[in-house]
Amino acid sequence: MKQALLGKTLEELQQVALSVGLQKFAGKQLAEWLYVRRATSFDDMTNISIKGRQALEEQYMIGRHEPVAEAVSKDGTKKYLFRLSGDNVMGDVFIESVYIPDNDRATLCVSTQAGCKMGCKFCMTGTLGFHGQLPVVEILNQIFSIPDSDKLTNIVYMGEGEPMDNIDHVLRSLQVMTEAWGCAWSPKRITVSTVGVVPGLERFLKESECHLAISLHNPFAVERQEIMPIEKRYHLTDVVAMLKQYDWQHQRRVSFEYICWHGQNDTVRHAKELVRLLKGLSCRMNLIRFHAGVDQAFAGSDEKQMEWLRDYLSDNGITTTIRRSRGEDILAACGMLVNALSKQ
Ligand code: SF4
Repeated sequence: MKQALLGKTLEELQQVALSVGLQKFAGKQLAEWLYVRRATSFDDMTNISIKGRQALEEQYMIGRHEPVAEAVSKDGTKKYLFRLSGDNVMGDVFIESVYIPDNDRATLCVSTQAGCKMGCKFCMTGTLGFHGQLPVVEILNQIFSIPDSDKLTNIVYMGEGEPMDNIDHVLRSLQVMTEAWGCAWSPKRITVSTVGVVPGLERFLKESECHLAISLHNPFAVERQEIMPIEKRYHLTDVVAMLKQYDWQHQRRVSFEYICWHGQNDTVRHAKELVRLLKGLSCRMNLIRFHAGVDQAFAGSDEKQMEWLRDYLSDNGITTTIRRSRGEDILAACGMLVNALSKQ
């Protein structure tokens, strides 16, 4: 199978140029065609000789492919289904991405794995099991190949999968998005989430400047591990201790995601523990409404309780907002990605 160029660094593209008999500087031209002009075929690359383009075509592919299905929510959110191909997956494997337009912002939620290994009890994606790591080309293809690509202002790595469990490819995709030879986006426009996979998180903090979001959901270890098996391996208290050590400068931001469940994590006891746990860490908290239908054992908090929790945390120094739910009617909201479009 031909190697994809999407996802290669400038240095690698220079090697690609040399490998097909072009000058090294053609690597820079390739980067511009791929990441700035967003070429979808070698024929588009008119400042590269015809012979050079033919040689590229013989050995390489761009790596772009369009979504195979889409669904549009009544609130304007769009969900796209991509079919994966290549050595990394067997048979028909799908992933989903969610496009969320919102006034002057347009955010894409991308997947980093097909399915997920983490098995969070409240998450429908977790029920899919794990079907493969996404190579960098498949992470970037979601960003480049949706019809709304040129409208994007922000990207969140919060779709299928745990980004820190596929850290090499995630970091590479961030590099392409933020480097001057790539898409030259500010890292502040990108947020990567994690349940707290420490080795990947350490590398992410060192090797990227993008924002971080931690899926918290319960401040008590015993209760958290009941719903998030990762807690047994990497404790939230250690993750928070590590974040307190980190030098949060250059406007890099850490936020915490907190799905609210009635009586399970929205009580005074939980609120007090959250304040104690996060004391001394400059951070934000996003409270998320629970989407019913995942598991009958979970029931979302009511509006009043969520507002109380928001006010309590804000009054105690944690900037807290209640996140508006988007795309619930097309199973595009948080934790609802199960590739349902592939079955329609
Ligand atoms: Fe995986 Fe995230 Fe779902 Fe947990 S919440 S199972 S990490 S996709």
